Amino acid sequence: MNILIIGSGGRESAFAYKLSQSKRLQNLFIAPGNAGTGAYGKNVALKVTDFDGIASFVLENDVNMVLVGPEEPLVKGIHDYFLNRADLKHIPVIGPQQEGAQLEGSKDFSKQFMDRHGIPTAASRSFDKTNLEEGLAYLETQKLPIVLKADGLAAGKGVLICETLEDAKLELKAMIADSKFGAASDVVVVEEFLKGIELSVFVLTDGNSYKVLPSAKDYKRIGEGDTGLNTGGMGSISPVPFADEAFISKVEERIIKPTVEGLKKDSIPYKGFIFIGLMNVDGEPLVIEYNVRMGDPETESVLPRIESDLIDLLEGVAQGNLETRSYTVTPKTAVTVMLVAGGYPGNYESGKVISNIENVKESIVFHAGTSMQDGNVVTAGGRVIAVTTLQDTLFDALQQATADAGRIYFDGKYFRRDIGFDLI
Ligand code: AMP
Repeated sequence: MNILIIGSGGRESAFAYKLSQSKRLQNLFIAPGNAGTGAYGKNVALKVTDFDGIASFVLENDVNMVLVGPEEPLVKGIHDYFLNRADLKHIPVIGPQQEGAQLEGSKDFSKQFMDRHGIPTAASRSFDKTNLEEGLAYLETQKLPIVLKADGLAAGKGVLICETLEDAKLELKAMIADSKFGAASDVVVVEEFLKGIELSVFVLTDGNSYKVLPSAKDYKRIGEGDTGLNTGGMGSISPVPFADEAFISKVEERIIKPTVEGLKKDSIPYKGFIFIGLMNVDGEPLVIEYNVRMGDPETESVLPRIESDLIDLLEGVAQGNLETRSYTVTPKTAVTVMLVAGGYPGNYESGKVISNIENVKESIVFHAGTSMQDGNVVTAGGRVIAVTTLQDTLFDALQQATADAGRIYFDGKYFRRDIGFDLI
């Protein structure tokens, strides 16, 4: 198999690592990749939304499968682009077509989908400029805090949790009337606030059957004890101790099965990953959001726990016989610690030389925001490197990952030492 991974983060590094373990892999390409993905395959200087460029590369290099990491190319229709070209449509793309990608691309679409198929989620209503006044009146009937969500993709910033009615009214107006998040907030979902513990469950589906991938929990805030600003994710653990068999079976019966069935009932083809963001409210799972790809940094904890050949599973997705593929997961615990640039998630500098990676012996080092400059590996983003360790216990994994995160050096490096500590 010749496989092209689209993307450049820690998630794509983890995919490259996992695919490179398969005996069935011949050539691996990563577009555009980072300074670490070159160890597993060949980096290709193409933008993730350059569909024409990707298509030419695929044809010239005899690529047999395209695995899409981030949401943007999916929401912009990379899968549809392949299907619509006679010379490309036989090449499987792992990731949904544009319609299925709406589960992530439009919060309003995903809420309607959940309501239509009886999938448990927070109560909500959507508003736009035609009924803004009604929206403001609706806010007065809601309990505090109130959650406002921009309908479209807003770089992870489109969700506001408003503690006062006044704030909620101001924000609803800013989003709809003043385009606070551009066109992404033309429609706003007003949602009930759910109190509980968040976790993520990942599903791989061929549109008919599915495999439930390991659960994970990510740590979003910059500061230890989950304090400070939100980030793209400072670390993750898998499995999630409180997501025991009983809880996961509730998730499967009430959420995963109706989601896959719902897509079928709505005639929405879907081949790829579904990332289900959940709130555990007193032991009951409710959906906070769907994403149509794997999470980052959850992928860095989830994939190393999968013992099966990932190419075999992805081929099952492409051929529509995922059900027949063997799938096993190690009971070990994975902890991922993200090394970030000083100042992140605010302003930060790039181009800092990264050293001592070779001193990490017991963990996997996944590059994220890194690049090569004058023969050195340098920082090239806020989230720089993910360090993942697999151990028998969460405590051991946390200690090992933290120790190994400390071994790598770059000017301004910061990481959280408490990933998973709340659950020990
Ligand atoms: P989303 O982009 O939908 O995942 O929302 C971003 C974050 O906002 C989530 O990870 C939650 O921490 C929080 N959030 C979203 N919806 C709710 C809700 N209904 N109740 C409580 N917190 C929420």
